[in-house]
Amino acid sequence: MPLYQYRCKTCKHEFDQFRPMSQSAQDSACPGCKQQAVRVLSVFSTLSLNSFSGPACEATGASCAAESRGCACCVQQ
Ligand SMILES: [Zn+2]
Repeated sequence: MPLYQYRCKTCKHEFDQFRPMSQSAQDSACPGCKQQAVRVLSVFSTLSLNSFSGPACEATGASCAAESRGCACCVQQ
């Protein structure tokens, strides 16, 4: 089951939730205040859209695309 990210409209709490793809577009409930939470795009998708140099490495903060072979954390060896 895919993991989706949601943000509460009321308290701005962000959380991840496993849901079937068929329910991915539906709103969820905040685990804190039980109010409506809407799905947000993942960090990876946001960075890809906003940067021409590719997604930043989560471990080092380096841009993977700037390295000829990618950074260590992103390359399967
Ligand atoms: Zn909330």
